Amino acid sequence: MGDYVKVSEIFGENVFNDTAMQERLPKKVYKKLKDIIAEGGDLDLETADVIAHEMKEWAIEKGATHYTHWFQPMTGVTAEKHDSFITAPLPSGKVLMSFSGKELIKGEPDASSFPSGGLRATFEARGYTAWDCTSPAFVRQDAAGATLCIPTAFCSYTGEALDQKTPLLRSMEAIDAQAVRLLRLFGNTTSRKVTPSVGAEQEYFLVDQAKFLQRKDLIYAGRTLFGAMPPKGQEMDDHYFGTIRQKIASFMRDVNIELWKLGVTAKTQHNEVAPAQHELAPIYAEANVAVDHNQIVMQTLKRIATQHGMKCLLHEKPFAGVNGSGKHDNWSLITDDGINLLDPGKTPHENIQFLLILSCIIKAVDEHAGLLRESAADPGNDHRLGANEAPPAIVSVFLGEQLEDVVEQLVSTGTATSSKTGEVLETGVRTLPELDRDATDRNRTSPFAFTGNKFEFRMVGSRDSIAAPNIVLDTIVAEAFSDACDVLEKAENFEEAVHDLIKENFSGHQRIIFNGNGYSDAWVQEAKRRGLPNIRSMVEAIPELLSEKSVRVFEKFGVFTRSELESRVEIKYENYAKTVNIEAKTMIDMATKQIIPAVIHYSTRLADSIVKIRQAGIEEVTVQKKILEQTSSLLTKTQNALEELRKIEQKACALPEGKGRAEFYHDQVVPAMEALREPVDELEMLVDKEMWPMPSYGDLLFEV
Ligand code: ADP
Ligand code: MG
Repeated sequence: MGDYVKVSEIFGENVFNDTAMQERLPKKVYKKLKDIIAEGGDLDLETADVIAHEMKEWAIEKGATHYTHWFQPMTGVTAEKHDSFITAPLPSGKVLMSFSGKELIKGEPDASSFPSGGLRATFEARGYTAWDCTSPAFVRQDAAGATLCIPTAFCSYTGEALDQKTPLLRSMEAIDAQAVRLLRLFGNTTSRKVTPSVGAEQEYFLVDQAKFLQRKDLIYAGRTLFGAMPPKGQEMDDHYFGTIRQKIASFMRDVNIELWKLGVTAKTQHNEVAPAQHELAPIYAEANVAVDHNQIVMQTLKRIATQHGMKCLLHEKPFAGVNGSGKHDNWSLITDDGINLLDPGKTPHENIQFLLILSCIIKAVDEHAGLLRESAADPGNDHRLGANEAPPAIVSVFLGEQLEDVVEQLVSTGTATSSKTGEVLETGVRTLPELDRDATDRNRTSPFAFTGNKFEFRMVGSRDSIAAPNIVLDTIVAEAFSDACDVLEKAENFEEAVHDLIKENFSGHQRIIFNGNGYSDAWVQEAKRRGLPNIRSMVEAIPELLSEKSVRVFEKFGVFTRSELESRVEIKYENYAKTVNIEAKTMIDMATKQIIPAVIHYSTRLADSIVKIRQAGIEEVTVQKKILEQTSSLLTKTQNALEELRKIEQKACALPEGKGRAEFYHDQVVPAMEALREPVDELEMLVDKEMWPMPSYGDLLFEV
């Protein structure tokens, strides 16, 4: 049993949050910073110096020796370069600890080795990191000691975004402007700002560290590339919400403590569907803070797992045949005075503002379904989306019974006169309290579901940053709001115009609404009939970024320029090709050096056994002979598939970088990898367990 934790005391203790700033900063400086956080604007160097000094003093008290600009380049993970606070030695031989405003505001990491997709030639290696004062600095304590981490944006010399944060902040400004514009039309004169709120539920697997280290595929690719199914998978559904075992509970406790100290509101934790799979969800926060926090969550899960003798797998599909991991991106719009614009109230049919906003979101998602799909594309997610795994690769919107009924009324008769209400839930047990039933049941199969007062985008991969989906959501909804405002600001009769617009939006985009089972084959057919895109892979999704309407919407709201989009497309193709390349090479390595030798060893033993038994005078050695025949035939298949993969892999490597190469990896290398996996998985079921060169699925999933 660990010590008793006082959450309210430790929460945020390692964050330079509002309390810390208020305590430490002179009133005038504090006010200036708060204004900039709320309204934007430039920080003068004098003020920055004061903030930097106080931040440093605070960090040093927490044990910090270094600071780092913590940024999110296009690698999907965060990057940092540490500088210590020490100055050049004084004549006395001592050093001072210093941190200037300039160092706080701007950094210049040698950026040449971060992906830039051609935006910055290597001879112009300069990249800048700029402090994002809307996400608080924090002190991270780990094996490196304690480090002051300053969330920063990362751009090129000419101001082009080289990261995830810059476009996210731009998209937040876009939706803020358009949402406020829309609110004004409804007579709201008091809200000054609208911010997207985001809560990301994070799924992950835990496996034993020693076993992890015996598998090169887990080490290099983060997922298993071979592996036969154990006798028991997830068919009993006994893991989901099951009792959390002590070892895992102790891990979760440490994760929570770490996260709370860093101001991350870790809230829920439970076992997920697959064995060894779990989930963590924080309370929602402003989008850019939520994106940063999700990165902190992923890093913390990994670090604490190692301390507990385990490894945390964030890959979208660590085990074939077992549920993969995703991230649910919960999204809503909230004003600075606390109004959730996605709250329908009790009688949504009368809530005209809500209905307009809802109809705009439906329109945005329908018009940019491909772009939204792309925002969830990463190499690992290819094994989930559209690959017989939840959720499907078709974007559709779930509204639930109540809202669908309202939309139906609006579309068919032009007016909505009623809202279905939730009733009292009868449990049939007198001692249980009466429960109000929600007006809407849940639908777990929808990729984009309305869940009470927010939308939940469920396509996102577990390892991916949630920045991209939120950039897309903010931008496309900003466009729909802007279109609506263009019409309504000119309208002579506002009431009538709103009414017509709501009807038009819903009627024009009703095809995206689907409340049924998103995992069924029937839906795939139905979606095709409706003309909804079904984009089954990352390489197929990437071009969505450069479609005319995508470029138009991003440029209109200043979120991405065309050349920034082009650079991202290039980075993504490369990222895909590199990822599959690593996987293919890992398979080749494992098959050549571990699996084939083990199988040869096993067949030799069988052959020896046959010879010895015959020498002992028994002619009929049928069992061993049969197994030997099967093994040998599978071994031949394996060797052939291995040679084939080698050849194709060499061809792929020789191709020039870009789309063609990524497509080649997808169309040729991936199938060759699958062809190699097949006989190997069959062999695993045949060969003596003692001789199999790596832990099995059963070992990994059930013996954590
Ligand atoms: P689930 O049943 O899908 O687990 P929860 O109600 O537990 O749903 O919420 C999941 C996530 O949604 C949490 O991170 C929560 O903070 C977040 N969330 C709740 N309300 C909002 C909102 N208005 N905007 C954004 N995220 C929200
Ligand atoms: Mg959820």
